Amino acid sequence: MTLYDTLHYSVVPPLFLLFFTPVVQVLTRVADPQPLSWAVFTGNAFSWCFTAVMVLWAYLFLVLPGAVHHGPTTDFGQTPSYRANGMLYYTATLAAYALVETLLLPGVSVLVFSNMAAILASLNVLALLLCTLLLVRGKTAPQTAEVVPPRPLPHEFYRGMELHPRLLGVDVKQLTNCRLGMMLWQLLVLVFCVAGARLHGPSAGQLVGAAIQTVYIAKFFWWETGYFSTLDITLDRAGYYLCWGCMVWVPCFYTYSTCFLVRHRSLLNDTQAGLVLALGLAAVALNYRVDLEKQRFRRSSGECRLWGRPATFVSAEYRTASGWHKARLLTAGCWGVARHLNYTFEIAAALCWCLPGLGHGLWPFLYVMFLSVLLVHRVFRDEAKCGEKYGKAWRRYCSQVPYRMVPYVF
Ligand code: NDP
Repeated sequence: MTLYDTLHYSVVPPLFLLFFTPVVQVLTRVADPQPLSWAVFTGNAFSWCFTAVMVLWAYLFLVLPGAVHHGPTTDFGQTPSYRANGMLYYTATLAAYALVETLLLPGVSVLVFSNMAAILASLNVLALLLCTLLLVRGKTAPQTAEVVPPRPLPHEFYRGMELHPRLLGVDVKQLTNCRLGMMLWQLLVLVFCVAGARLHGPSAGQLVGAAIQTVYIAKFFWWETGYFSTLDITLDRAGYYLCWGCMVWVPCFYTYSTCFLVRHRSLLNDTQAGLVLALGLAAVALNYRVDLEKQRFRRSSGECRLWGRPATFVSAEYRTASGWHKARLLTAGCWGVARHLNYTFEIAAALCWCLPGLGHGLWPFLYVMFLSVLLVHRVFRDEAKCGEKYGKAWRRYCSQVPYRMVPYVF
């Protein structure tokens, strides 16, 4: 075993588990200092009700009859299936929240905000139990015949065992990533905005941050079936990194810039807030545009026009258990400018929704800093995957499109 392997498999996973699991509570206390109580470890009645409602609601939409989407077939011949009703789930959840906040339980947003520590404790307990179940099942009764090389236990827990496990008839990653993680992100930014307005009066800055995130998340649900072809689904296994990450880290950390502004009011004036809104929406639109170009290219098998010209590409081949397949690597439009321009615009959008916290130190900017590291790391992970999959063709593509994220810089 090399030093890298030792660090990668034996040192980093336990360190990450020990650092990230409790840090959500530290962040919550910084955003909303409250006396320490047992609820930060065990949750409380409110937090368990909130968590149960969110999980059951998400589960309900996954078992409702409706259209099914099939994800890419894996190297070992598994074709995962998903419920294709993301937009219905999204709009129904927002309508239900509006009904509860305005009619059934006015002030529920303040209640959620003041119970965030307990809510994160409940989500933490639930996510850790789920990851343990996935680990045990992946080791003792895997659902596919895929052979996974044995690794140290903390690494297996952290990275996960199975690619597309199902539980109670639903795909685990669709439940944890799309339905719980993304919806909690959306609900919580609205909740924090309403809580801020109820406690201290409306704030243009906080509203703008929440509005940009809302457009971004709505776009995610609009495009949910496209997500099933991304790295999270095709490369990452269902374990702590992904499932805990989506059930606990996303609701805590991705919402943090908006949560922080409930007690620490945004210093942006209306004009500055308007400018940030325009920039943020442009960045979200550009991020979507990059993803859309690849989607259009793939759907048309390369026979489409981009930026007014026929799309150019590098022809590639790759092998799976069922034999050799042909593929095309797009070199036109945004994909001819840099290999991951979508990540660049993603970071720009995140910077915009953090900007309303300007003047309050680094806390409101933690998300964009984290995202930059995550996406740069992801560029390398993705390129390692593509290099292995496409070999020479990938190297030819890289020589035609030499920059990763920012032309002439990186
Ligand atoms: P990409 O959408 O960039 O997809 C990468 C994959 O696309 C590669 O693995 C390869 O897959 C294929 N590909 C790469 N280059 C080309 C090309 N030139 N032509 C055709 N196909 C190509 O990455 P992600 O899946 O990571 O991201 C999807 C979206 O999600 C982005 O908008 C991103 O910003 C966002 N995102 C947000 C995160 C967050 O935490 N906020 C985290 C991660 C992503 P194949 O094997 O099929 O060829």
